[in-house]
Amino acid sequence: ETGKQDVAKTKLVVGADATFAPFEFTDPATGKYTGFDVELIQAICEEAGYELDFRSMGFDGLIAALQTNQIDAVISGMTITEDRKKIVNFSEPYYKSGLVVAVQEKNNQIKNFDELQGKKIAVQSGTTGALHAEKATSKDKITYFTSSDQAMLELKNGAVDAVVMDYPVTAYFIQQGNKDVKMVGEILSAEEYGIAVPKEKTETLEKINTALKTLKENGKYGEIYKKWFGE
Ligand code: GLN
Repeated sequence: ETGKQDVAKTKLVVGADATFAPFEFTDPATGKYTGFDVELIQAICEEAGYELDFRSMGFDGLIAALQTNQIDAVISGMTITEDRKKIVNFSEPYYKSGLVVAVQEKNNQIKNFDELQGKKIAVQSGTTGALHAEKATSKDKITYFTSSDQAMLELKNGAVDAVVMDYPVTAYFIQQGNKDVKMVGEILSAEEYGIAVPKEKTETLEKINTALKTLKENGKYGEIYKKWFGE
């Protein structure tokens, strides 16, 4: 080890909307960012030799931030979609997800996605949940929020009838003591999350994919997964 040089690590500026528990959120006890995505990107950076610079911003601004090179990558429970693939590149998928309809616990009217027609829905701007809500009801019935917490609060307050959002985030929210909210119907649309990088940063993408593969093979990915999702 004697000849080893202490080289400064390359910085990887990673953007996320850290209001999306259990993927990225602020730990109330420590005030630090935590979650499945946060621990995964930390492990990827360690593996790939990057110094992580994690920044939180609104979800609907993340892709623009990539395109203008303000950030090098996004890990934010972001679904790999055909539309997004036209403007950014995605890593190999790292999490299988889907969308679900949430209503107030006392609501016996809405039992599935098809019954959202004409109902008031809260969503997070720029998400796949928002796109699905737009298929279910007219746009003037939809209220758009910057964060998923705000959409959920709107439902709890009874200002809307439903929220369409990622299943694991909705399930976690209810599990965290929000028993006045429930999920109804089937899980919609099979979605996969990927890490997004600007089109031209092919080397970054390669490094991320290689690290992700190593972490899946050496058990580290499994460890982080188990910590946040239990199996
Ligand atoms: N998975 C959803 C999407 O990609 C929501 C992501 C989020 O709100 N962080 O649109």
